[in-house]
Amino acid sequence: MLVKKNCPFCQGTGVRMVYTSVLFGLLKRQIPTTCDECEGNGYVLEFPLCPFCEGQGLIGNERELCRACNGTGRVDTFGFIPRSKLKPGTFFNRRCDKCHENRFEIVSQIEEHKMTRSWEREEELRQVEIVEQVKVRCTSCGHTYNIPVSGDWHQDLTPEMTGDLEDMGVNLSFMYEKR
Ligand SMILES: [Zn+2]
Ligand SMILES: [Zn+2]
Ligand SMILES: [Zn+2]
Repeated sequence: MLVKKNCPFCQGTGVRMVYTSVLFGLLKRQIPTTCDECEGNGYVLEFPLCPFCEGQGLIGNERELCRACNGTGRVDTFGFIPRSKLKPGTFFNRRCDKCHENRFEIVSQIEEHKMTRSWEREEELRQVEIVEQVKVRCTSCGHTYNIPVSGDWHQDLTPEMTGDLEDMGVNLSFMYEKR
């Protein structure tokens, strides 16, 4: 579900050459420096395309922000929250588009909701389907919205999967928080 790709900025080496001036700018020299795109790991993580907006980040005729991915077009950490934890009291990290803080709390159980997907043709305009969603709230500014729940995500994470994801730098702090 998560793809590890060679970092395109350092070709997977984790190191980039930068030019630096020496002798008051009379000479330029290349020095190796840690690649900041991948933080020296040599790889970047590519999250799969968001199934709700198909990678567009926007939904429907109104071009509303897709809340499944928060407009990024790719599944984020929310997709890894196991279904059993999609309930009030679970926290996860996501950037708030109102106050730019990073922490959200789930504040509802899973609820059913009619949803219109993004469409290309007019006959699709009336197509609605029932999706599940949960309501979330920014813990800093109180901004709330609903996030649709994809049936393909929210699996129970085995200890191996948890370890692999954390090795790849995915923040899974919601796995450890209890209230
Ligand atoms: Zn890199
Ligand atoms: Zn989306
Ligand atoms: Zn906020």
